[in-house]
Amino acid sequence: MRALILSDIHANLEALEAVLADARRRGGFDTIWCLGDTVGYGPDPGPCLDLLQDHPLLIVAGNHDYAAAGRMGVEEFNDAAAAAARWTAGLLSPQHTAFLAGLPLTATSGQFTLVHGSLRAPLWEYLLEPESALGTLERLATPYCLVGHSHIPFICRENGGFPRFVEFTEEQVFPLGEERWIINPGGVGQPRDRDPRPSYAIYDSQEFSVERRRVTYEIAKTQAKMRRAGLPQRLIDRLDYGV
Ligand code: ZN
Repeated sequence: MRALILSDIHANLEALEAVLADARRRGGFDTIWCLGDTVGYGPDPGPCLDLLQDHPLLIVAGNHDYAAAGRMGVEEFNDAAAAAARWTAGLLSPQHTAFLAGLPLTATSGQFTLVHGSLRAPLWEYLLEPESALGTLERLATPYCLVGHSHIPFICRENGGFPRFVEFTEEQVFPLGEERWIINPGGVGQPRDRDPRPSYAIYDSQEFSVERRRVTYEIAKTQAKMRRAGLPQRLIDRLDYGV
């Protein structure tokens, strides 16, 4: 079984399509595991939700998903994010709104737990440091945890009870072992590790490994749609830089 691990698609249809095509070309996948923030920021929330739902899908909620569905306010969001959340909310069909509002905070498949931010604060915590990794490991009931939210790829290994972050290098197969891991595949629709290319990961149950990959897409096409939609300029510009 091969699971395509995606996070933070952020309504970027061109990025999502490029990732799906790349994954299909390179060994394919049986299911999609999506770590939340499928909408918000980008111009195509509905088409992204439809495309995901064309596949076997396990998906959890991100802060942007609940905000767009009206399940949560936008007080905690910065101005650009709040404007994008309001724009998204106005565009979603009742079906998409209900789908997003009904997403769970966590989901489990076999040895993997899926969550957007962290197990300590599923919608909000940026898991980037040992202290927050410990907060998740304390609550983790499976060997492996998949997180998103920061849009920064990494692997965090529990080593002698202590979390150790290592680079989740591209195009390198990481065999899963005895230790518990927290894995972030990076962001699809709005990468923030100073590389504008969408990032994703593949889990292969037979090889018992994970691998991270990046793809290119036509950024200008997404940006033109955002401009037409009147989305904040700052959100348009950042796609060029991966920040
Ligand atoms: Zn996000």
